[in-house]
Amino acid sequence: MPLSNTPPLKFIVVTGGVLSGLGKGIAAASIGHLFSSALKVVPMKLDGYLNVDPGTMNPIEHGEVFVLDDGGEVDMDFGHYERFLGVTCKSDWNLTMGKVFESVRDKERKGDYLGKTVQYIPHVVNAIKEKIRAIAHAEHADLMVIEVGGTVGDMESELYVEACRQLRNEAGPKNIAYVHLTYVPILHSVGEQKSKPTQQSVALLRQRGIQPDVVIGRCRKHLDEHLKERISMFCDLPKEGVITGLDVDNVYKIPLVFNEEGIINILNQKLGLNVQPNLARWEQLLHNAENPQREVVIAMCGKYTRLMDSYASVIEALNHAAAHLHAKPVIKWIETTDIENEQRPIEEALHDVQGIIVPGGFGARGAEGKIQVVRHARKNGIPFLGLCYGLQLAVIEFARNECHLAEANSTEINPHTSNPVIDLLPEQLHVTQKGATMRLGGQNIEVKKGTRAHALFGDSVRLRFRHRYEVNPVYIQTLEKHGLVFSGKAPGREIMQILELPHHPFFMATQAHPELTSTLDKPNAFFYEFLKTAMQPLTEKEKVTA
Ligand code: GLN
Repeated sequence: MPLSNTPPLKFIVVTGGVLSGLGKGIAAASIGHLFSSALKVVPMKLDGYLNVDPGTMNPIEHGEVFVLDDGGEVDMDFGHYERFLGVTCKSDWNLTMGKVFESVRDKERKGDYLGKTVQYIPHVVNAIKEKIRAIAHAEHADLMVIEVGGTVGDMESELYVEACRQLRNEAGPKNIAYVHLTYVPILHSVGEQKSKPTQQSVALLRQRGIQPDVVIGRCRKHLDEHLKERISMFCDLPKEGVITGLDVDNVYKIPLVFNEEGIINILNQKLGLNVQPNLARWEQLLHNAENPQREVVIAMCGKYTRLMDSYASVIEALNHAAAHLHAKPVIKWIETTDIENEQRPIEEALHDVQGIIVPGGFGARGAEGKIQVVRHARKNGIPFLGLCYGLQLAVIEFARNECHLAEANSTEINPHTSNPVIDLLPEQLHVTQKGATMRLGGQNIEVKKGTRAHALFGDSVRLRFRHRYEVNPVYIQTLEKHGLVFSGKAPGREIMQILELPHHPFFMATQAHPELTSTLDKPNAFFYEFLKTAMQPLTEKEKVTA
């Protein structure tokens, strides 16, 4: 099968070396961004683990699970891809070894290998290449940006590295470029940038038959000329191909850093392209983000606060809104297990915050602490935004303290509660498998006229979901009677999707994850309004309340 019609399909393969956590996803997204004004760029991520998708993984280990519109639960790098490339990604753009082996095994059972011994090479590697080609074809891609997960040399990613090596022969050397991201340490004692880890990592890549066209050295400072020369000499690539991957305080600067370093010229040259990036709008948005006029302190109240990546998109969404409000969000991490264990008094923890977010979550641990936090926000007129689990816990808090349902709870937390105000969605009752079985993906929300949600979104809004539980329809009337307003619901169903309290400066929660579809260009309205209210001085808030 030909790879594409003319002009030929191009590939950029991004690998990583030395360490994990160097920002390969952001590097891949930034490179894609530079080409995206002229070409149809399709990103792919190849993950080495045997899980079919990250949906079943603990966010503390793996970071946030990103949810796509099509319902796919994918690696958090897809958040960067969507935000940097302005594309709606699809679930199968995230290949995992779990998916690859599943497809090879299915084929074997069907007899498609015609009696052959099924082997890693060629069969598994072919399955990887076929998937890449099929996606390129289906999407009419001009450029596939393929991020290989892990670090070169990891056993887990060997088959992907081999597939990407073989792609070169099939696509033709002029149609594929290899970018390798490494780490350049600066030794404190001598203050000198060291190239050895990069040399060794590139040597590992070359052992596998891949010669990088670009080496990005992640470093605290710009790589000096001498270091670039050394990397160029030892790694056998032109000096222009050695690019600084500068540490930055704002990831949106990375496309600009790469562009200044001339990455586009070397990739254009290698791929026979002539793309000039269009960065004007991006620069302008970044300018706003870079020049905040004031700070706004937001409490992020969760139980995965040990790993900031667990809430990556929530932080991003706050940054997007802040950029448009000339503000800088200062996030105060509140571990709600500490609140519920009374290790930390709530007044002390929240005394200096201007807004409170209770983000998504699962299970009982930390939940009572979050309920206390919601109560504190509601009673003290502090702007509150609840996301998914945050909505469910806000309902529990309201039911307990305003509707006299002292036992109110979610059956996720207490399966035997006498007031199950949050309960399983009916379609979840017979679900036994954990993977990919939640209510997932993009869903429309019908918004009630005359509400705050209507002022923000109009009659309807589409957001992404990932949940098993919902507001129990049996309790809706009681909750509404006591003043809770359900301002968004699923069309044709009784699934409550947005709630608000009218006599509060800002008290809103949604069953959805609005953080997943927020971008620097178009911040999500929940976050924008929340932050805007949080920035208002108390007197104005009181005016709103009155
Ligand atoms: N645990 C809750 C549910 O399954 C909320 C999920 C979430 O916050 N993503 O419904």
